[in-house]
Amino acid sequence: MSLLNNHSGIEAEAGCDEAGRGCLAGPVFAAAVILPMDFYHPDINDSKQLNEKQRQALRKIIEQEAISFAVAKMEVDDIDKYNILWASVRTMHKALDKLAVKPQYIIVDGNKFLPYKKIKHDCIIKGDGLYTSIAAASILAKTYRDDHMIKLHKKWPQYNWEKNKGYPTSEHREAIISYEHLAVQQAAREFTQQELLPGVIDRDREMKHPTTQVQKMGEMGFLGMMVSPEYNGGGMDTISYVLAMEEISKVDSSCSVIMSVNNSLVCWGLETFGTEEQKQKYLTKLAAGEIIGSFCLSEPEAGSDATSQRTTAIDMGDHYIINGTKNWITNGGKSSIHLVIAQTYPEKGHRGINALIVETAWDGVVIGAKEDKLGIRASDTHTIMYNDVKVPKSNRIGEDGFGFKFAMKVLSGGRIGIAAQALGIAAGAYELAVKYSKEREAFGKPISQHQAIAFKLADMATEIEAARLLVYRAAWMKDQGMDYTSAAAMAKLFAS
Ligand SMILES: Cc1cc2nc3c(=O)[nH]c(=O)nc-3n(C[C@H](O)[C@H](O)[C@H](O)COP(=O)(O)OP(=O)(O)OC[C@H]3O[C@@H](n4cnc5c(N)ncnc54)[C@H](O)[C@@H]3O)c2cc1C
Repeated sequence: MSLLNNHSGIEAEAGCDEAGRGCLAGPVFAAAVILPMDFYHPDINDSKQLNEKQRQALRKIIEQEAISFAVAKMEVDDIDKYNILWASVRTMHKALDKLAVKPQYIIVDGNKFLPYKKIKHDCIIKGDGLYTSIAAASILAKTYRDDHMIKLHKKWPQYNWEKNKGYPTSEHREAIISYEHLAVQQAAREFTQQELLPGVIDRDREMKHPTTQVQKMGEMGFLGMMVSPEYNGGGMDTISYVLAMEEISKVDSSCSVIMSVNNSLVCWGLETFGTEEQKQKYLTKLAAGEIIGSFCLSEPEAGSDATSQRTTAIDMGDHYIINGTKNWITNGGKSSIHLVIAQTYPEKGHRGINALIVETAWDGVVIGAKEDKLGIRASDTHTIMYNDVKVPKSNRIGEDGFGFKFAMKVLSGGRIGIAAQALGIAAGAYELAVKYSKEREAFGKPISQHQAIAFKLADMATEIEAARLLVYRAAWMKDQGMDYTSAAAMAKLFAS
């Protein structure tokens, strides 16, 4: 059956169609084509009815014969930001914008379209099998998108996009499951856009704690990502954790520092070194996001020099009595438990230090002033005073005198989280810088096309990528059970 040449009787009638709407990966492409009214080619049809070779051959003919044609694409980030339907329509508008000849009538495949510059349009269901110009647009959109997916395949061959082009074949679905890291990254990205982006600047300016957002992070499993499912955690690896940290930090570094302390310091410390009773009592709630925790090491006189602990934990037989002050404690005003590092045997130096679990509701725990900071202002950083706080011996983590080693081990893993946070902050700033440099024009072109800016962006991208490799390497080494102490320190040093 040959297709109809014209729908409206108007000469400059543009046919529009998109490709990629039903895909699991890759951008959406759209094309707009204006053909001569007497144009005829027996093979032009809905692109789905043609094979790859036929489509490529017809594309050449369409591009030669069309009065005007244009192709546009919308990237995955923008599709995620809105939705695929809106993205498809918007991409068709972009293709129409690019036409050298202004159309006087538009015909579109499908049943959804939004008015375009007051030009009359008709939506035609299965239009790509009825009208030549829509079929031609479907061929262009599909072939341009296929070429793009083949390029992406070279970068990420594991999904075999060369063959499936991002469509949900069973092979593609299986690859997505086996490469679940990307699914975690995607979930974190979507969550961040939907839940953290709204109000982030105001919260930071006003130092308003993101209580609702943290609660939602808990519901999503971001507060106990690496904890075993046995204790209500996500059972994920460190790579998944840093991917989520990076995405969340791109937008809200206050939320990511809260997440970092809870995951890397408190949960990891308890799961690795705590007793079964401690895990059941505290870790299960921390990992589920029902409560959050703090890690309390720093003191007015003990920052980098963490061995100089002045907080004391006096051994009273079946319990300890803690006295002292801790400074700059993240989550300080909101946490339900503290892991407190304190000196029991001053004569033994760092070998006389213990790590104790303290419930903030206990007598003698005083939450002091909240710090005013230059960044991550919505996070809750406090001074904490412990005045004769009674802690049962069952709340000590590890052997007597293990506290300093505990703190150092925990901080080593913590560096990976903070490195991922710094990476995310840089990557987020870079993404915004690129976007702005493409929007802002000076001397007749976007500033991204001026070398002074392009060089800066290239340097930023290179340094971010180097940081990313160091962070992922440290996370990978931790997952492999290797000694990651230096790798984590290097990642944090470089990324921050
Ligand atoms: C936002 C924020 C959140 C925090 N959250 C927590 C928390 O949850 N729990 C917690 O326990 N602590 C927390 N801290 C404290 C943090 O870990 C300390 O700030 C850090 O250990 C450094 O200590 P300090 O600030 O006392 O600096 P100092 O130790 O006084 O160091 C000052 C400067 O001297 C340099 N310096 C120190 N010693 C040496 C040396 N030997 N060689 C060369 N240079 C040196 C340092 O690099 C630094 O530039 C937080 C801090 C901030 C800013």
